[in-house]
Formats: sequence, structure tokens, C-alpha cells
Amino acid sequence: MPVLTQSLEVATVERPGDRSRMIFDPSPGVRILCLTSMPSTKPHILILTDLDGTLLDATTYSYEAATDALSAIRALDASLILVSSKTRSEMEPLRLRLDNRHPFIVENGGALFIPKAYFPFPFEQAAPRGDYEVVEIGTPYARLRTALKEIGRDLGCRLRGFGDLSLEEVSALTGLSPAETLPATQREYDEPVVVESNGMAWSRLSAAAETRGLRWTRGGRFYHLMGENDKGVASRRLIAWYERRAQQEGRALITVGIGDSLNDLPMLEAVNYPILVRNPDGSYDPDVQCPHLTRAEGVGPVGWNRSLMDLLPTL
Ligand SMILES: [Mg+2]
Repeated sequence: MPVLTQSLEVATVERPGDRSRMIFDPSPGVRILCLTSMPSTKPHILILTDLDGTLLDATTYSYEAATDALSAIRALDASLILVSSKTRSEMEPLRLRLDNRHPFIVENGGALFIPKAYFPFPFEQAAPRGDYEVVEIGTPYARLRTALKEIGRDLGCRLRGFGDLSLEEVSALTGLSPAETLPATQREYDEPVVVESNGMAWSRLSAAAETRGLRWTRGGRFYHLMGENDKGVASRRLIAWYERRAQQEGRALITVGIGDSLNDLPMLEAVNYPILVRNPDGSYDPDVQCPHLTRAEGVGPVGWNRSLMDLLPTL
């Protein structure tokens, strides 16, 4: 039976995601009498990132330059969400290489893939598919293909989507290896398009899509035809679930977004800390403008790494 004296002291031990209270006797030969875990009051950090030209180098598709920040994210127990115009087939191997177990957003917000039991509550409009709950926001690919043909015919311009191109042509346009090219063409909600009519007014393309309930955006390499989805719609949906979970845990949520192109703008508008990285030629996409935007010093993953290494210690 320990003898409690007036000299007992209380200390708080902080670790990422955990806080413990320690009651100990400070006299020589310290004895810990009690160690209790308390709910963490540290904010949860949610980082939504574009891939091509942002976390991944625009040419080599390597994330090596971002290694330090990736380690810092793990150490902070932050959630890194991959948000791309890439397909699920392309993103799954990358998630494995990054050892990323978090939800991810495919094809410019066409769908959210959430690992089963990731959130401690059911969420609306999700359908089970394999190891995931899937929330579909986008328009089925077959409808996009039909609309693309109609728009090209109506405007008298040559619009070639991935569905019109051979694997060799997609490989040449993207720089993807032959093995990586097939997954890039397995599209469900978004069609990358090469517009081959010089001088075709953007307003005419937009109007032709809008009359069909569709719209265009622009990534680093292609125009994209898609439905009412975008990276912002999908990101806000996901952020709301993280907020709900953070509230249940008595924590605040801080959101960060990083991108390089116009298709990232809706995602950047949905977060607390939007970051824009430089293009390979050193420029910033002039169409990406939003309040509180940080322009990272560095191209693609170099800027990604530098901006997060500066920001994360301040959160
Ligand atoms: Mg990009």
C-alpha cells in the first residue's frame, strides 16, 4: 500500500495523437504511481494533395524530393489525402508505395474511396466496393464519351479523348511507361482531352459542355471533360467527415491543400492553408488565385516539401 505524501507531483506527457498524465513521487528513486491517458487536444492535420506536377515530378513522376515532409506528416500523425485526376487503378499502387491508408479522391473528384471502418460512423450515399466505401459524384464515363463526340461534331473541332487514343499515343503524351499507361486509360468519371483545333474559343467549349450538364477543367497536361464533380466538391465532403470525427474526439481540424493547376483551385478554396507549387518552367499557374494562397518556393515536389516543412511546425 503506497503512502501518499504532500510531495507528489503531476506531469503531462505529450506525444503525437496522445496525451498522458503522470503522477509521481519526486524523491530519490522516482516512482511513477499513476499513468492515465487523456484525450489529445492537439489539432488533427488533414493535407489534401494533387499528384502530377505537385507531389509527383511532372516528368519523372517521382516523389523523392518530398521525402522529408512525408516523414514529418507521419511523425505528426497527420492524414495525407491523394486528390488526383488519375484513376483508381493508377492511385492504388502509389498508395501502397507511400504506405498510405487514408481515403483518396480519383478522377478530379469523380469518386471518393474510403477504407472500410475508417470513420467511426456511417456516412451518406456510400456503396461498398471491395475494401472500400465508395461515394460517387461524377458522371459515368460512357456519357462523357458520347458528349465529347457530340461537342466535337457540333463545334467542328478535333477533340481526342483517352478513349480515342491508342496506348502508345497515351504513353507518348503522358510520359508514362507502357506498364503505367493501361491503368491511366481505365477511366470511370473523367475524360482527358487533347484539343487539336487552334483558336477554339474556351467559351464555346464551355457552353457546349454546359448545355449537356457537363464542364471542363484543365490539369497540367490535358483539358478534362467531367460532370458536376470537381476536386473541391469531393474535398469538402471528406473534410466534413474529418470535422465530425475531430469533434467527437474533442479536437480541432486544420486543413492544408497543395496543387499546381486550375483543376486544383476548388480544392485549394476548401482548405485553411492553400499552397501552389511552381510549374516546371518556374512559373505559377496564373489562373489559380484564392485568398491566403501561399506560393511555394520550388517546382512540384521540391516546393511541396519546402512549403510543408515550413508550415507544419507552426500548426
Ligand atoms: Mg497537377
